[in-house]
Amino acid sequence: MARIALAGFLHETNTFSPIPTDYESFAARGAMLSGIYIAEELEQVFRGQNYNNSICGFYNQAEKLGHDVSAIAKIGEAEPSAPMPAKLFQQFLDLITDGITSAIKEKGPFDAVYLDLHGAMVYQPANQGETETIKQVRKVVGNVPIVVSLDLHGNISPEFFECASVLVGYRTYPHIDIYETGVRCATAMDYLLKRKPLYKAYHQLPFLMPGSTLATNKRPSQILYGEIDRIEQDPQVISASVMQGFLESDVPYMGPTVFAYASTQVAAQRAADRLLETALELEGEFRGELPNAQQAVAQAIEIAKTVDKPVILADGQDNPGGGAGSDTVWIMDELVKQGAPESAVALMFDPEAAMMAHQAGEGTVIEMDLGGKLTPGHNPFHGKFEVVKLSEGDFVCTGPMLREMKANLGKMAHLRIGDVHVVVASYRIQIFDQSFMRVVDLDPSKMKILVLKSTNHYRADFEPLCSTIIDVDAPSSLINNPETHDYQNLRDGLRLQGKGRVYKRPVA
Ligand SMILES: [Zn+2]
Repeated sequence: MARIALAGFLHETNTFSPIPTDYESFAARGAMLSGIYIAEELEQVFRGQNYNNSICGFYNQAEKLGHDVSAIAKIGEAEPSAPMPAKLFQQFLDLITDGITSAIKEKGPFDAVYLDLHGAMVYQPANQGETETIKQVRKVVGNVPIVVSLDLHGNISPEFFECASVLVGYRTYPHIDIYETGVRCATAMDYLLKRKPLYKAYHQLPFLMPGSTLATNKRPSQILYGEIDRIEQDPQVISASVMQGFLESDVPYMGPTVFAYASTQVAAQRAADRLLETALELEGEFRGELPNAQQAVAQAIEIAKTVDKPVILADGQDNPGGGAGSDTVWIMDELVKQGAPESAVALMFDPEAAMMAHQAGEGTVIEMDLGGKLTPGHNPFHGKFEVVKLSEGDFVCTGPMLREMKANLGKMAHLRIGDVHVVVASYRIQIFDQSFMRVVDLDPSKMKILVLKSTNHYRADFEPLCSTIIDVDAPSSLINNPETHDYQNLRDGLRLQGKGRVYKRPVA
C-alpha cells in the first residue's frame, strides 16, 4: 500500500479573453463540481462517487488497488477567462503545497502524487501554470512519481512533458471519459509504484486543428483517437495520449501534441511516432472553412423542411466553455430576419435581461436589448419578447457528461420573439445538457432549429436528437479557423490549419 497525495488545479486560459480571472471565478460553484475544496470537504464530495470527474475515477481506482489516498485541495475548474495574476496563481498553488507539507508533518512522507490539471493554464505574463505546479509540488514531496490527468485541450510544452512522471489525457470530445481518465491515472501510478521501468516519447504536431474538426466521434479526430486503442494493444505500452491543444492561447508551445509511455524506449518511441504519422496522414482534413450566419440559417431552413428532427447550428466561436461571452446575436438575428420556423437559441448569458424578465413576470411582453454586450464591436438584439417561463436555475443535469450533477445557473428565462425562443441564463456556461433548456419548459426535440453556443460538448446530449449539424462561422472571442487569426507568439514554422499557411512570428 502506498501513500498518495491527491490535488487538482484547473483553468483553461484564453489569453485573448476580456474576462478577468479572479478569486471568485474559482470559488463559484456553478456546475461540474467547480469551486475550491480543501481536505475533508474534498474527500466528502469526491470520494466513492461516480461523477464524470477524474478525481472521482482516481480515488475509486487507487483505493481499489489498495492505496491510501489523502485529499489535499482542488481548485477550479473556473470557466475559461484571461491569464490569472501571478499572485493569485501562487495563492492557489500554496493551498496545495502547504496542504501537502502539513500532511507530511502529520503522517509522514508521500510515495506519490496525483494531480488533476487542465493543460492550458496560463498565468501572467505568459507562463504555463501546470509546469510550475509540478515543480513546486516536487520541491515538497521529493523525487516520487507525479501522475497527471489532463483535458485533451491542453497545450503541452516540452518542459511540462519532461517534469511530470506520466501525463494522461481525455480521449473524447465531448468529454464523456473524464472519470475513466482518472482510472487510467491510478493504473499507471500503480505500475510506477511497483518500480517498473518507464520510458517516454513526445511530439508536437506541425499543424493546428480548427475547432470544427475536433469532435472525436467523426472524422478526422475519430480516426486519430481510434489509433490510441490499437497502440495500447502492445503490452509494453502503458499509456498513449493525443492532445488537440487550445487555440485561444497565444504562447509558443500552443498546439496539438502526442505522447506515450512504455516499458522500453523503443515501444514508447514507436507509439508516439505512430500517432504523429496518423495525424500527418489526416492533415488535409483538419480544415476550418464554414458558412457564415446568413448562409447557415438559410441552409438550416431548407433542411428543416425535409426532416422531422431538429437541425443544429453550432455557434462554436461564442462557446463560453472556451472563454467567449455566450451572448452574440448574429445567428438569432438571421433566424428572425429569415422567418425561421420554431427555433431555439441557448444559452444566452445576460443576467440583466434575466432580471428584467423576472421583474416583469411570466406572460408579459417586454421590450429590451438582449445579448451582444460582451464582445467588442458587437451590438445587442433589440426587440419585444414574450416572457414564457422563469426559473431560479436550480436543477439536476440528465445528460451523459454532467450526469446527476447539480447545476445552478442563476435566474433563467425562456423568452420568445415570433417563432424564435431564447434561453437566458445568469451564469456563463456552455449548453452541455438538455436540462438547461427543459428547466424553462423548452423541449429541444420539438424545435426545427437549435442554435447551441458550444463547439462540441453539446453533442453528448443533443446529437441523438437531431437530423443534421451545421458548424457556423459567427464571430466572437473564440477561434474556429486559426489561419484567420492574428497570433503574436506562436513558434515559427507551425501550419495554422491542416495544409495551411505557415506561421512566422511578427517582428517586434
Ligand atoms: Zn476540453
